[in-house]
Amino acid sequence: MTRLLQTTDAGLYCPPGNFYIDPWRPVERAVITHAHADHARPGSAAYLAATPGEHLMRTRLGADIDLQCLDYGESITENGVTVSLHPAGHVLGSAQIRLEYQGEIAVVAGDYKVTPDPTCATFEPVKCHTFVTESTFGLPIYRWETSEEIFAGVDRWWRANRDAKKTSVIFAYALGKAQRVMAGVDASIGPIYLHGATEVVTRAYRASGVALPETKPVSAESRKHEFAGSLVIAPPSAAGTPWMRKFEPYSDAMASGWMRVRGTRRRRALDRGFVLSDHADWPGLLWAIEATGADNVLVTHGSTHELARYLRERGKNADVLATHFQGEADEPTVNGAEAVE
Ligand SMILES: [Zn+2]
Ligand SMILES: [Zn+2]
Repeated sequence: MTRLLQTTDAGLYCPPGNFYIDPWRPVERAVITHAHADHARPGSAAYLAATPGEHLMRTRLGADIDLQCLDYGESITENGVTVSLHPAGHVLGSAQIRLEYQGEIAVVAGDYKVTPDPTCATFEPVKCHTFVTESTFGLPIYRWETSEEIFAGVDRWWRANRDAKKTSVIFAYALGKAQRVMAGVDASIGPIYLHGATEVVTRAYRASGVALPETKPVSAESRKHEFAGSLVIAPPSAAGTPWMRKFEPYSDAMASGWMRVRGTRRRRALDRGFVLSDHADWPGLLWAIEATGADNVLVTHGSTHELARYLRERGKNADVLATHFQGEADEPTVNGAEAVE
């Protein structure tokens, strides 16, 4: 479908440019869409990523990795292939990778969302011949409410818990979702505390210049500290662990696109589920694909066959691009287990 991209045992490869995109094995040259663990893997000799994600890349892969950064829109040429990075709107520093070679243009979007997020640059459609899209929520049932509506619900829940002298504990993936939650809630309701894993990533966000409300690490408080009335942000892996005892009495909730799936919240024994995703919903995917003007669409991650079929029925050349990973690191899976980390 395009000579610019090829799937290999190490991941997606650009043969004329001689580099990989989000490789899952160590390679000589890796171009990275974003710092989530299923896309940014350790061990490669050299990395290329977008400038706003530099602190996150070094936090995740090591301070001393060989990392070259490009501003959004800036381009370099690798063996005759022009490479530039463009905002994907997914998390801080997330980039769509645009490749141009002898007049042919391909864009690998990585993970993306099209709704605005105060913690990262907004998705920008890039014109191309071939578009590689994700499809994590590529079914018509996935339609997100606006961020304003979602956070009004989170604020109501937090305020009611505060008035009932309870702690509000919200589970959110440590990179991206957690910062979106702290930026989105009404911080005047009470103090915000962070789990250690969330704290480390949040420090990288602040170092990158993202404005976030004041937060404190849970670990900074003494054993007997009273958390009632506060909001605690923790990774989903903290749910149901002994670490939770210090917050009693508490109400717990999860912020994830999977909360849209009936029964997910109940199976995880949570009080509340907020449908908050950093991936595009069904209308968002269709809008983004259309906006690229691409005739060829390659679908990866999630409901790939469904989205590819839908696009084919509407006259596009659409195919599934087989990838190594079944689940998404940044969205807890439906059955309750987390795919990676
Ligand atoms: Zn991601
Ligand atoms: Zn992903």
